[in-house]
Amino acid sequence: MDSVECVVIGAGVVGIAVARALALAGREVLVLDAAEGIGTGTSSRNSEVVHAGIYYPGNSLMARLCVQGKWQLYDFCRERGVPHRNCGKLIVATSEEENGKLDAIRARAAVNGVDDLRLLSAAEVLAMEPNLQCTAALFSPSTGIVDSHAYMLALQGEAEAAGTIFVFHSPVTGGRVVDGGIELSVGGAEPMTLLAHQVINSAGLSAPAVAASIAGLPPQHVPTPYYAKGNYFTLIGRSPFSRLIYPVPVPGGLGVHLTIDLGGQARFGPDVEWIETLDYSVDPARADVFYAAVRKYWPDLRDGALQPGYAGIRPKIVPPGAPAQDFVVQGRGTHGVDGLINLFGIESPGLTAAIALADLVREMAPG
Ligand SMILES: Cc1cc2nc3c(=O)[nH]c(=O)nc-3n(C[C@H](O)[C@H](O)[C@H](O)COP(=O)(O)OP(=O)(O)OC[C@H]3O[C@@H](n4cnc5c(N)ncnc54)[C@H](O)[C@@H]3O)c2cc1C
Repeated sequence: MDSVECVVIGAGVVGIAVARALALAGREVLVLDAAEGIGTGTSSRNSEVVHAGIYYPGNSLMARLCVQGKWQLYDFCRERGVPHRNCGKLIVATSEEENGKLDAIRARAAVNGVDDLRLLSAAEVLAMEPNLQCTAALFSPSTGIVDSHAYMLALQGEAEAAGTIFVFHSPVTGGRVVDGGIELSVGGAEPMTLLAHQVINSAGLSAPAVAASIAGLPPQHVPTPYYAKGNYFTLIGRSPFSRLIYPVPVPGGLGVHLTIDLGGQARFGPDVEWIETLDYSVDPARADVFYAAVRKYWPDLRDGALQPGYAGIRPKIVPPGAPAQDFVVQGRGTHGVDGLINLFGIESPGLTAAIALADLVREMAPG
């Protein structure tokens, strides 16, 4: 049986960043992905926002890794010429009652080390974004956007230059904890079994299923997966805003916000739709809710200007209504199995945090 030092399961942005970090540390790394190429999962179905790290609970992995990962991402993109723009974001209040919530958001952000938020009056906002209607806003200067595919390609290039091998059409179908590592069964055109001394399960939406298929991993450490679809509607015509526009968060979500891509295309979303099976279609009827929500801060939105865009699915590990769950990065200290690290619940801000998550995994997987 072939043996490999480290196998990363999943070539999304996190798996690629993990492979790069391990390879740069001198480890032998093989990345297996079920799909035909990199980033076909959640990594290409998101908002492409470089999050500042504002809302997450203090001391959570999300807060820490988002703030750290944001600066790592900006440095990486600047040095490698990956398209990105530090465009900033406005969190807008549209009533006196919401004005009062902006201070709490600023305080929350400061706990996370995001101490650059500026409170703006309605007049100051209007000078920045003439189409925006609000009573006050917070400006986050460190928020931005990135070309996620170019980012993944650059990470992959460095991983490969450091010796990583990527193999596609290779679903991991099961595993077994054995002496010296994990024996993995790999499907595809040429099924095989290989021994990995270190496995990093970075399979996104399928990470719980992959973990559940590893005999010898105590099942109580495998979370139940839940899926929360996020639908987007794109705006026909030019974006009326040059910064990202977010309403004050509502219980359970960030509200219907506007993001722009590097080509200037505006889109609204994602909303939250709990689903049982993976389905990326966007129901045009959901547009009604979008029109109403967006018109609170952009009253000029014309009827018929929104068209169904795309959807991404959040890899939740808690059911609807439960308190938000932090990233779970689970190693031997949690589940007792040598050579296995599981990444569960890597939803937003996973794109922003990818390099920081990879550093954490590298520290947990010493050579
Ligand atoms: C709607 C939405 C919006 C988001 N917006 C943002 C944002 O603006 N900013 C931000 O920072 N984050 C955002 N995120 C989060 C971010 O997109 C994810 O955290 C990140 O892409 C997760 O990457 P990943 O590598 O863990 O997973 P994925 O990209 O899902 O990759 C998992 C990979 O595993 C492979 N795989 C699955 N099963 C197997 C198997 N058995 N064998 C081999 N391979 C397998 C899949 O083919 C896939 O390539 C958003 C997420 C969603 C859902």
